[in-house]
Amino acid sequence: MERLDAFMARANAAYYATHDPYADFTTSPEITQVFGEVLGLWAAVTWEAMGRPDPVLLVECGPGRGTLMADALRAIRGVAAPFQAALRVHLVETSPKLRAQQAERVPDATWHDALQDLPPGPSLLLANEFLDALPIRQFVRRGAGWTERFVDGASLVEQPAAAPELDAGDGAVIELCEPARAVAHDIARRLVRYGGAALLLDYGPTESTPGDSLQALHAGRPASPLIEPGTADLTAHVDFAALARVARAAGAAVHGPTPQGLFLTRLGLFQRTGRLAQTQPPTRAAALVQAAQRLAEPDRMGRLFKALAICHPGLPRPAGFEA
Ligand code: SAH
Repeated sequence: MERLDAFMARANAAYYATHDPYADFTTSPEITQVFGEVLGLWAAVTWEAMGRPDPVLLVECGPGRGTLMADALRAIRGVAAPFQAALRVHLVETSPKLRAQQAERVPDATWHDALQDLPPGPSLLLANEFLDALPIRQFVRRGAGWTERFVDGASLVEQPAAAPELDAGDGAVIELCEPARAVAHDIARRLVRYGGAALLLDYGPTESTPGDSLQALHAGRPASPLIEPGTADLTAHVDFAALARVARAAGAAVHGPTPQGLFLTRLGLFQRTGRLAQTQPPTRAAALVQAAQRLAEPDRMGRLFKALAICHPGLPRPAGFEA
């Protein structure tokens, strides 16, 4: 018998080490190059607001195929040469297989296993669909008390547990992602100490909400999360409100969560897509516009996905988070 978070950690480590995750799912940077481009420009504008530190770390956590960073760097090269000269790319990635793919697209990078391994210094940090892959615990309200879920073979079993400091109706499921909170804490500490800003994009509700959000994707289809470990990608909703609390408690300023569609539209997703589309043949131009709509429309990825910024408290409100 294994606690759910231990099972999820083991399953995802095995999955990312052995599979091409993009056979099972797609992500915003793979949908359109403009996603990474506008995030690169966000980093350039934020670097100006930081007072142009040189050198500055440009960090990405969980870079997948390296597409986001490659697109960001191309956009930065085009319009922000001083930022390009100052930045040093650092990638936080545990999967050797994905590191190899990242090295093809972003050769001038330094790789790390964990955030704590980054060198000191001011930084701009990006992460897309990184937190949703981190292991969660699940508690279930039973009568006056709580149980915690464990995996036993192909089934979930409940064991009595110390109560989370929460109230919820009988049968309600509460999720707790300790590694995501640790990431928010570590990022906040680092930014408060050395300066900079982090942009976290992921999916989840604005307020902490009870419910079982654990899901598995196998061969592009929903599967049981308890499927043979390592054969499916396991994710859960990100609890943005909890991350914001943790980061604020560590002294950082927090902005958002802002719905991804609103955030990207404010950053010029559609203008940039339109300009790029003008240079392309009609079918490719139409595909680019449809891809931007997929990221921004509320009933697609525009509302469930959110952007959250964690910043040094002295920084002005970052672009895209206008009240
Ligand atoms: N950001 C990419 C990939 C998302 S998939 C995109 O948008 O396409 C999740 C990524 O996080 C993968 O690169 C995976 O290998 C990495 N990852 C998962 N758990 C991790 C951990 N604990 N530490 C570092 N990287 C991790």
